[in-house]
Amino acid sequence: MNKELIINELKKINYPGYSRDIISFGIVHEILIKDSTINISLKLGVEKNIIEEIKNNVISMITSKFPSALVNIKLLESQNNNLNIIPNIKSLDKVKNIIAVASGKGGVGKSTTTVNLATVLSEKFKVGILDLDIYGPSLPTALGCQEQPKMGSNNLLVPIEKYGMKLMSFGFLNNESAPTIWRGPMVSRMTQQFFEQVEWGELDVLFLDLPPGTGDIQLTLVQKVALSGALIITTPQDLALLDVKKASDMFSKLKTPIIGVIENMSNLILEGHIKDENNHLFKGTIEINNNIYNIKDGQFLIDLEIFKGEGGIDESNRLDVPLLSKIPINSDLALYTDKGTPYVKEHKNTYIRECYENIAQEIINKFL
Ligand code: ADP
Repeated sequence: MNKELIINELKKINYPGYSRDIISFGIVHEILIKDSTINISLKLGVEKNIIEEIKNNVISMITSKFPSALVNIKLLESQNNNLNIIPNIKSLDKVKNIIAVASGKGGVGKSTTTVNLATVLSEKFKVGILDLDIYGPSLPTALGCQEQPKMGSNNLLVPIEKYGMKLMSFGFLNNESAPTIWRGPMVSRMTQQFFEQVEWGELDVLFLDLPPGTGDIQLTLVQKVALSGALIITTPQDLALLDVKKASDMFSKLKTPIIGVIENMSNLILEGHIKDENNHLFKGTIEINNNIYNIKDGQFLIDLEIFKGEGGIDESNRLDVPLLSKIPINSDLALYTDKGTPYVKEHKNTYIRECYENIAQEIINKFL
């Protein structure tokens, strides 16, 4: 019996009504072991029945694993309700998991990743995307929808449905120039409304496409909503990484588990064949930037590292989370995002699709 084993047991207990465990919510404040007595302090600031339920679950989980142990629970009052919990956001009642997709800065492919990952998952699960990038909402472009959402009978906005997913974006509600002048408090209010006043219905996963950085929206969000986890998108360059560190540190501080890091635009893969002037397949080598690539039977596959950095692996090591994928730069991917069709919809057997499938599998294993 040691602290680590006890933590592992406590990780099996979910916060009542949520798919997240009490360790990741930061409820377990301290564990002290003395001989066969285990003293556990829990930090709770919520309703009485939930306190009782958690307490009973902790005691029964620990005593079933360590029958000879005596378990004492001490309740500490939580000063702030910083446990990412808002018990009563009605419109999210049937949303089983909320996953934030974040990046340190813009243009790293956060929306492209969200859209393609969500599309892969939507083949088997009920998926929604909420685009909270108020200053540059990309969902309307990436999924080719410009419709205005309608108000439902219960005064809730009905999300737009496209490619079998439920979608909501600031871009659906405002004309292009309006949002840039919005200030913090208004942004926070709008964000909250997007959770509370949208008829999300039943969803297995709701992806939140966050604006880059660590601004008002992110803060409102992680304090008000029970996030199941966050995905961090970066590019390999160090510069992007500095920003991404700030973003991921914010999730760590607020006890939102980081599912993993995705490195986008990692490399450029060129594949093809070469023939000589007599139309014969060529055999030989190609040299690019001092690297030699072999051509076998006329076929070549050149994997070019465009950027020097190792952003994804560095950040995943620092956070001690997996590097979920290294997605290459691909002109088709850019083309499809910009023309409003998810790339994965029309590419069934490509390496890029495989990258998104691998990330999706990680999410399925963890949450679905
Ligand atoms: P963000 O949401 O981080 O601002 P976007 O997803 O909008 O970034 O991507 C920015 C631009 O880069 C878009 O034009 C998109 O098509 C392109 N893009 C994103 N990822 C890739 C990639 N792996 N290969 C090629 N183009 C990409």
